[in-house]
Amino acid sequence: MIKKLPKIDLHCHLDGSVRVNTIIDIAKKENIKIPSFNRDIIKELIQVPKDCTSLNEYLKRFELPNDVMQSSYALERVAFELLEDAAKENIKYIEVRFAPQLHTKKGLNLSDIIQSVLNGIKKAENAYDIKGNLILGCMRIMSEEDGIEVVNAGLKFLNKGVVAIDLCGPEKEGFANEFRKITDLAREYGYNITIHAGEAASAKNVIDSINILGAKRIGHGVRIKDMKEAYDLVKEKGVTLEMCPTSNIQTKAIESIEEYPFYDFFKDDIKTTINTDNRTVSNIDLSNEIDLMFNNLEVKDKYKDIYLYTVESTFADEKTKQWLKTLI
Ligand SMILES: [Zn+2]
Repeated sequence: MIKKLPKIDLHCHLDGSVRVNTIIDIAKKENIKIPSFNRDIIKELIQVPKDCTSLNEYLKRFELPNDVMQSSYALERVAFELLEDAAKENIKYIEVRFAPQLHTKKGLNLSDIIQSVLNGIKKAENAYDIKGNLILGCMRIMSEEDGIEVVNAGLKFLNKGVVAIDLCGPEKEGFANEFRKITDLAREYGYNITIHAGEAASAKNVIDSINILGAKRIGHGVRIKDMKEAYDLVKEKGVTLEMCPTSNIQTKAIESIEEYPFYDFFKDDIKTTINTDNRTVSNIDLSNEIDLMFNNLEVKDKYKDIYLYTVESTFADEKTKQWLKTLI
């Protein structure tokens, strides 16, 4: 039943959603050294272990997929396949995010990297009943200059497939000021801003992301449950939370599914959306995540409401939003 519902994924990382077989296949085709060509071994290396204790441990799973995402062919293929997988579970709109600077190891420039991913998205849009847009990630382990380079490289694609800038990677307390120039420039150009915050550090980062960096959406943000000031700000400003249940439990942002605050937030009119984060690393799909949240029947009755405010929270153009609204 969940599979049949029209769905939207606002928070999905390209490098965390690569098919296992594709990693092996690209490695063979492009002579890239990977630890094994055995599917089970690769699967184990890129999926989060059951005893994962932190976001930093979770993030280690991305090294191998990124090793095989260094050519135009690989980037286009991986993007196409992600949308293909999404379309097969009736996701109608997806905002794919990735950090272009992780894909320069073999000499591709940022513009070619972004173009390759957009080519994959376009190809899937032509083949399936799905639309996609791209969010460019600036890694918090990289410098301010690196982030500014990404913002500049994405400019020619803005509103032609690229819609927003994100800050991603490990989360330190009080990171916002370090990256302020990146989001200032991005907003000046007309990018939307979404920021990973309140996941591995306190919800003070959520406040800063909204007030200092101009975030319209927050990736995760689950820790606002522990800080009234942040909670009230999110509610008052109508900021959308891109919640990713399984991932948040794997990184220990939240202890267990029973304590997951989706329903409490939802009841209190906070715009909570359900997303995957990483299909392969977390070994899930969006139907799986919605199912987890639907264990509470009252939410189940409200799927249409959740879907409609999720449409409004997308960074899609008006035409796409109108189309999405007709699907429910
Ligand atoms: Zn994320």
